[in-house]
Amino acid sequence: MTARKAYDDAKIKEDSARLTASQDSFTELWNSLKSTFPKLFGEATYKSWLSPLAFKEFTGGRFVIAAPTAFMRDWVSTNCSKKILELLQSLNSIVLQLDIVVDKTLKIEKILATTPNGAGASISSSSSFVEGEVIGSRLEPRYVFENFVVGQSNELAHAAALRVAESLQVHFNPLFIYGGVGLGKTHLMHAIAWHIKTCHPKRRVVYLSAEKFMYQFIRALRFKDMVSFKEKFRSVDVLMIDDFQFISGKESTQEEFFHTFNALVDQNHQIIISADKSPTDLPGLEERMRSRLGWGLVADIHPTTYELRLGILQSKTEQLKAGNIPVSVLEFLAHKIASNIRELEGALNRIVAHAGLVGGAITVESTQQVLRDILRANDRRVTIDEIQRKVAEHYHIKVSDMHSAKRTRTIARPRQVAMYLSKILTEASLPEIGRKFGGRDHATVMHAVKKVKELMQEERSIGEDVDLLQKMLRS
Ligand code: ADP
Ligand code: MG
Repeated sequence: MTARKAYDDAKIKEDSARLTASQDSFTELWNSLKSTFPKLFGEATYKSWLSPLAFKEFTGGRFVIAAPTAFMRDWVSTNCSKKILELLQSLNSIVLQLDIVVDKTLKIEKILATTPNGAGASISSSSSFVEGEVIGSRLEPRYVFENFVVGQSNELAHAAALRVAESLQVHFNPLFIYGGVGLGKTHLMHAIAWHIKTCHPKRRVVYLSAEKFMYQFIRALRFKDMVSFKEKFRSVDVLMIDDFQFISGKESTQEEFFHTFNALVDQNHQIIISADKSPTDLPGLEERMRSRLGWGLVADIHPTTYELRLGILQSKTEQLKAGNIPVSVLEFLAHKIASNIRELEGALNRIVAHAGLVGGAITVESTQQVLRDILRANDRRVTIDEIQRKVAEHYHIKVSDMHSAKRTRTIARPRQVAMYLSKILTEASLPEIGRKFGGRDHATVMHAVKKVKELMQEERSIGEDVDLLQKMLRS
């Protein structure tokens, strides 16, 4: 228990620091804290004194709450404020001081809002667990199966997601979806939730990020609310945890999740997890957790292909009613922005917005202008390894020949070409290039670069080879 407590205290601070961004998050902090007051101070005290309190603002370390009357303010100041401040500080270390002010308008509002049962029903816990609906985090309306474009890179994950969404039986548990940033994991998870919500409204689905799971867990620990925490998560039909990698290395959260996981699997309830890596590659996972995660179906989403990117752009332009964008522009974007789909979408939105504001036709040239920064960031950085691979392939020699001491022409010439391309396509210095070619010195590289330049003038075939390789490497 003490280990948990220490974990609890340290982590709660770390994780609540994230909540400091805006007044909204302070409202949320206040509301979640307040939902624990009946337990902490007793139902009677809560009803009489605490339920009307409202969050006002947070400035310069001062957490300001309001009471409806001076009398109430004084009572709360004397009897509860020390404890409340402590709790606030434990949840968010940037809170230095608690001030209670009087706000007369508050009274009327709260009384109106709370009259039916007088118990401050207008204050709800910020915990997004709401019985009987899709609980956990808010679902993005756009993230439905209809808007998900399927291609080679994501067809397995898509098929698995669809199967889980449509089926009332559990075929694989858990379904584990993994892949890089912005490739559609969250989209698929939300799509499953929407589908179930629509087709099987009675099934209880919880979707939330691993971070939020942890936050709720430590809050439950903190406020000795573990029973209801366990109940909440163990009574769902489908539990979805997004960005599971967040749990890596967080032992207590992992352990709690492990228990939840087992309880759900035992009841034959579905679990769906997403992460940026496969269970085998996720660092900081307990062994039993890792093996459990691999029990079901592990589906990966690969980096996008050009065709998928183009397909997504076409589908998005329809959604945006931006049919006036020439195909050449879409092709240009699909070609240039290969990093991820989020960025691709962002680029499209930007050119549509720009055209809407400034007017004028959308062309490849205008797109290049508007997206200068994104395009520069996406300019593919060619690596020396890639150059060696492509050149070796082109000349039908082994990649290892790039590093070898062999000096026969059929090998030395391609090696020189690769050195030349490394010089013009990467930022590497001559000595760095030399090291990558089996530890040659910079003079050798310099000589190779000069030699290839000459040969390109003298022999047309070499010039063509180099041009072709350069094009392939740059695309
Ligand atoms: P991840 O969770 O893997 O980081 P997201 O699910 O948030 O990625 O996807 C990033 C953006 O790309 C979202 O706006 C999503 O709608 C879009 N997107 C991803 N994959 C597809 C797809 N196959 N078809 C259409 N849109 C997609
Ligand atoms: Mg995501």
